[in-house]
Amino acid sequence: MTERMLRFVTVPQETPEKRAVAERSADFGEIYREFAQAEAARQASRCSQCGVPFCSIHCPLHNNIPDWLKLTAEGRIEEAYELASATNNFPEICGRICPQDRLCEGNCVIEKGYQAVTIGAVERYITDTAFEQGWVRPIRPRRELDRSVGIIGAGPAGLSAAEQLRGKGYQVTVYDRYDRVGGLMMYGIPNFKLEKPVVLRRHARLEDGGIRFELNTAVGRTIGLDQLRARHDAVLIATGVYKPRELGGPGSGLAGIVPALDYLIAANRENLGDAVPDFTSGLLDARGKDVFVVGGGDTAMDCVRTAVRQGATSVRCGYRRDRANMPGSMREVKNAEEEGVEFVWLTAPEAFIGGDTVEGVRAVRMHLGLPDATGRQAVEPIADSDFTLKADLVIKALGFDPEDLPAMFGEPALAVTGWGTLKIDHRTFITNLPGVFAAGDIVRGASLVVWAIRDGRDAAAQIHAYVEQRQTLAMAAD
Ligand SMILES: Cc1cc2nc3c(=O)[nH]c(=O)nc-3n(C[C@H](O)[C@H](O)[C@H](O)COP(=O)(O)OP(=O)(O)OC[C@H]3O[C@@H](n4cnc5c(N)ncnc54)[C@H](O)[C@@H]3O)c2cc1C
Ligand code: SF4
Repeated sequence: MTERMLRFVTVPQETPEKRAVAERSADFGEIYREFAQAEAARQASRCSQCGVPFCSIHCPLHNNIPDWLKLTAEGRIEEAYELASATNNFPEICGRICPQDRLCEGNCVIEKGYQAVTIGAVERYITDTAFEQGWVRPIRPRRELDRSVGIIGAGPAGLSAAEQLRGKGYQVTVYDRYDRVGGLMMYGIPNFKLEKPVVLRRHARLEDGGIRFELNTAVGRTIGLDQLRARHDAVLIATGVYKPRELGGPGSGLAGIVPALDYLIAANRENLGDAVPDFTSGLLDARGKDVFVVGGGDTAMDCVRTAVRQGATSVRCGYRRDRANMPGSMREVKNAEEEGVEFVWLTAPEAFIGGDTVEGVRAVRMHLGLPDATGRQAVEPIADSDFTLKADLVIKALGFDPEDLPAMFGEPALAVTGWGTLKIDHRTFITNLPGVFAAGDIVRGASLVVWAIRDGRDAAAQIHAYVEQRQTLAMAAD
């Protein structure tokens, strides 16, 4: 069947159709349409089936990409799904939101000269088709175990660990302080990148498979970590990172200067039909406003594009470095530019102007200096270069740090690193507290969904080994 493959020379790269700017900017629906079967097969057939698949190596989950591309090219979609789901708990989500240009597709060997195989779009197609066709089977463990695991956090790290452990027969309870499952996939990432029914159907499947969810349950407030440790044979902390980095300078406390996650959560809740008083009052609604977003990462991109859809008068993004040095994905910058966002590169806010409420940003031009010890160019302000921009909504998207978990959990002995992330043994995922493991952003710092899934799967394997070992030791002592 090799003749069905290696077609990169004759078949050009096509991504799924992107909705027209005017249409997509007026709603929150996903911007990429789905591949039709024929196009998915054609695109998959471009794979060169190379001996050393760099795409797999650079996928954090080491997905068997060339194999499921070949099956897709042959029309064997159900088998492709079996293979894709063997290494990834949420292939359709990764297919939508992984920064493929930095991971699998960026390392595709035909990229040089012929443009990469559109791996993410095919991965999404395979799993969306599996859901439509009823091939996604419920989780039914072969045997039930009388051992239980408590998981704090229903983001991708917690959910993938929950699925892996439930598959082995553990009694699994996931605790989350939010009212819905998904973590940042539900409340951080906007609909135009990931529509919420895609996350909700995963929740339904996990619940149907016997995983219990205790939502609206903040560990450290509603229930103690010590209580969870007493209740379960092991506990996994997968709480993510939520403390926003702050802006300084005169006027930074004015009304109308808001943290990015507050803004995005309000938009996501509004789209889910929840009552959101701060949106209704206008505080977190960009309609009719001149919006200035500070930051250059994916969170900033999500804010500017949300503001466009809410009907902002103008949307600017100020970043202190240039386009080539911004951390956000180039695909998202391009999408934002198409949608009318203006990027003000090499710019940092110096002060915020206004009475009670912000009316403008005084910014200063920056230039890139010599690389520092990390190899990254330092940024320095240019003297007397300040200028003012009109803004009546300023969104701070400067990144996130971990909350103070030892204080939040009332467990001062829980060891953290100098950055406040949880300290673990990277081989076993265990913290310094017996039976307490950790995974995802709370260990890595702000990262990606695909890495959270990888960590959740690895942590689950280590929790299983730990519980089995303790059981063996207990039996030997009897
Ligand atoms: C705006 C935004 C856009 C992003 N876009 C992308 C993208 O396009 N692609 C990508 O790959 N990644 C993206 N990311 C990053 C990605 O979302 C995270 O890396 C990933 O969700 C981390 O997973 P996690 O499970 O570790 O934590 P989270 O997803 O943060 O989940 C943690 C969960 O723990 C819960 N929790 C926290 N404390 C407690 C407590 N005390 N008690 C009970 N529950 C608690 C939270 O409510 C939350 O549900 C984005 C992040 C943001 C903020
Ligand atoms: S999980 Fe992400 S990196 Fe891995 S193959 Fe899928 S899209 Fe690429």
